[in-house]
Amino acid sequence: MAKKLDTAEVKKLTEELLVNRRNGYFQVSDDKIKKADDFCENYKKFLNLSKTEREAVSYTVKAAEKAGFVPFDCEKKYEAGDKVYYNNRGKAIILAVIGKNGCKNGVRIAAAHIDSPRLDLKPHPLYEKDDIALFKTHYYGGIKKYQWLAIPLCMHGIVARKDGAVVEISIGEEEGEPQFCITDLLPHLSSEQMEKTLSKAIEGENLNILIGSRPVRADEGDNLVKLNTMKLIHEKYGMTEEDFVSADIEFVPAFKATDIGFDRSMIGAYGHDDRVCAYPAIMAAINAKAPESTIVTVLADKEEIGSDGNTGLNSEFMRYFIADLAQAEGLETRHVLSKSKCLSADVSAAFDPTYASAYEATNSCYINNGVGMAKYTGSRGKSGSSEATAEFVASVRNIFDQNQVLWQIGELGKVDGGGGGTVAVYIANLNVDVLDVGVPVLSMHAPLEVVSKLDVYMTYKGIKAFYEAN
Ligand code: MN
Ligand code: MN
Repeated sequence: MAKKLDTAEVKKLTEELLVNRRNGYFQVSDDKIKKADDFCENYKKFLNLSKTEREAVSYTVKAAEKAGFVPFDCEKKYEAGDKVYYNNRGKAIILAVIGKNGCKNGVRIAAAHIDSPRLDLKPHPLYEKDDIALFKTHYYGGIKKYQWLAIPLCMHGIVARKDGAVVEISIGEEEGEPQFCITDLLPHLSSEQMEKTLSKAIEGENLNILIGSRPVRADEGDNLVKLNTMKLIHEKYGMTEEDFVSADIEFVPAFKATDIGFDRSMIGAYGHDDRVCAYPAIMAAINAKAPESTIVTVLADKEEIGSDGNTGLNSEFMRYFIADLAQAEGLETRHVLSKSKCLSADVSAAFDPTYASAYEATNSCYINNGVGMAKYTGSRGKSGSSEATAEFVASVRNIFDQNQVLWQIGELGKVDGGGGGTVAVYIANLNVDVLDVGVPVLSMHAPLEVVSKLDVYMTYKGIKAFYEAN
C-alpha cells in the first residue's frame, strides 16, 4: 500500500501538481488594484470618445502623435526606437515601434478590432409615416434586436458630399443635445408579439429610429414632418437627403461608460468588444520599452461582419505594411511573417452564473481572473478556428508568469452551444503564430457590456510584456 499522506503533504502536493484557479483579488496587491483602477479611468475616457471605428482611429492618432509616432513613409529607412503609424482610410490603424533587431526575427503583433455591433442607416433612411419622421436602419454585427428598443441612441458618423467635403456628425453625446430611440409595443397590446420566439418578435425592418414629429408650417403639402426634419439636418450639417447615399452613419447607445457595482470593480459601457482590447494594445504600443523585435499594433475594422473589406484583417493591408518594413531592411516578407508572433486581442465570454447552463464551468473564463486566453475558437468541431500550437501557448504563458500577468484560459461556452471567431485565423493564415487573448465580457454584444477593471489592466500588462519579450 502507498504511504498515507498527512494534511500538510496533501497541501504541498496539491500546490505542486494541480491548477490553482483563484479570483485575482486573492492574488494581487492593493497597489496593483489601484493601478488597474487608474488605468481604467483613462479607458473610460477613451470609450466615451470612441464609439465608432472612425472615432477610435482619431483618438489613436492623437494619442500616438503625442507619444512621438509619425505617419509611416514606405520610402524611409527607420532606426530602432522609431515610432510610426499607418492610418487606413480613417477606419483602421497600425502602430509600429522599430525594434533593436528590426524584423529579422519576425515582428510581434497585437491585433484588436474597433468596430462594434450597431445600427447603420440605409442609403434612403429618411421617411415619414403617420406624421412621424423615422430613419430606416440596417443592423451591423450580431445583435439581439430586442435589446435595442426603448434605449437612448446617439448618431455618429460622416457624410461625404458630392463636392468632396466630408462632414463629421456626432449628436446626442453632449449634455443638452437631443437623442433618439426605437419604440417598442406596450405590454398591454403585446399578446401577439409575446407568442413569438425571441428571434422573430422584433423584425430587422422594425428597427426604425424616431427622429421627429413637428411639421414645417404650411397650409398644404405632403411629408411636412419629413421636410422639417431634413431642414433641421441641413441647417446643422449642410447636407441634403441625397447625401445620405454617401454617408457612414451609425446609431449607437447613448450611455457613457460607468462604474458598475458598489465596489466599482466593473465598467459598464457600449462597445467593450473590442475596444477593451484595443485600448490596452494602444497603451502597450506607446509604453513598451525598447522592444527587441519590431512591434506592430493593428486596430482593425469589420471584424463583427467577418473581417472582409479593405479595412478588415482578411484584406492585405497589414501584410502590405509588414512587407514595407521587411523591404526597408532588405528582407523577404514571407520570411518575416513566418517568424512572427501575434496576440489576437479580442474579448471572450465571461462565465455568467445566471446563464450557467450555456457554459462549461471548468473551461470558462471568469471576470477578475485576469486576461483570458483561448487556444482555439470556432464552433462545433473547432470549425473556423486557427488553433494555437502548444509551443506558442507555452511561450506566452511563460511571458505572462514572468511578468506577474494574471491569466486564465477557457472556451467561449459549452461544446455545440454556438461559437464564434476572431481575426486570429486571418493572421495565422499568413504563417504567423497566433494566440487569442482578451478581456472576459458579461452581456457581450449587448448595448451595455460589462468587464472587470482588473482584467482590463492585466490585458494591458500582458500585451506589453509580450512586446518587450525577446
Ligand atoms: Mn470581438
Ligand atoms: Mn464581437
